[in-house]
Amino acid sequence: MNDDTTPHLGAMLESLPDAVVAALEVRDAWRRRVADSNPGLEFIVSDLQSWPVGSTVRVGFLDGDSALHAAVVSATTQISEAMNLTLDFGYDDAAGTYRRWSLDDQERQAEVRVSFDMGGYWSLVGTDATDTTIDPWGGPIGGLPGQRTLNLGGYKDGLPAGWEGTVRHEFLHALAFQHEHQNMRGPCEDDFRWEDDEDYVPTTDARGVFVKDAAGRSPGIYTYLAGPPNRWSRQKVDHNLRTSDDPGTIASTFDAASVMLYRFAPFFYLSDPSPCAPTGNGEDLSDGDKRGLGVLYPPVALPEVVEQARQGLQMLTTEAPGAGVGRSPYSDRVVDLLDARIAAADG
Ligand SMILES: [Zn+2]
Repeated sequence: MNDDTTPHLGAMLESLPDAVVAALEVRDAWRRRVADSNPGLEFIVSDLQSWPVGSTVRVGFLDGDSALHAAVVSATTQISEAMNLTLDFGYDDAAGTYRRWSLDDQERQAEVRVSFDMGGYWSLVGTDATDTTIDPWGGPIGGLPGQRTLNLGGYKDGLPAGWEGTVRHEFLHALAFQHEHQNMRGPCEDDFRWEDDEDYVPTTDARGVFVKDAAGRSPGIYTYLAGPPNRWSRQKVDHNLRTSDDPGTIASTFDAASVMLYRFAPFFYLSDPSPCAPTGNGEDLSDGDKRGLGVLYPPVALPEVVEQARQGLQMLTTEAPGAGVGRSPYSDRVVDLLDARIAAADG
């Protein structure tokens, strides 16, 4: 999360709440199992998070005023100009207002539901924003009409330094982008200081944040993030920082200028300068980000992607005996996503 240009110790890192991550892990494990046992369905693991090419994604706001909404909208212009997908903020010219949604909504007013009332910055990834299997019990975050999908905490109290970079970062998540430091073709996993320096003496500052010891030895990322304010388990660190080795993920070449690359404190890296350290200003989309938007949302949906969706739908709806997919909210969800993709292509 490029929330400001100067890396500092004791910063809260972006992450989805554990409950949401846990729900996504169950769903993704099911998708992986189905993909493993059904050749031709591999793409359902990681390729269903992008929205149908050329479609319209409605965005709404839970809270905040129109001036704040207008600021957020203006920051997304760089994104809208680089893709064949429409972000529709429901602007009412006469009233000077943007689309709103509410926690009591029974009918979905928007696919991307922005809030400013929870802590931290985070976003569900792509079509997860309409996935009701994430939390069907009505918690604060999920795919139900009254659940948040993207949060910019504290923005109602004033726009923080680097806010446009954070807005673009979270909206790229909402458009199915993952973190650049987790790009399996990147240098980050090898250059991150995962473990403490040899003989490191656990040392904290007045806030309890782990810092270098008296001999200048550094804590590792695991130790640092286990302390306040993040208090992450090793599993959570791995989930948020290690490369995703998902065979279905299309990894482009590593882009150090991307707004999807975290900016960490220098001790996170083993080498200085680190090949994993951002080279961009953390605010503007890089050329690589724009290319990525053009790949995900090209002028016309790729025929092979649409054909893949048709075949996948065929397999899921006319299940061969023993295919083991079985009817469930998870299979219904995949069917809905494939339906939407085909419908958008058929126009
Ligand atoms: Zn992020």
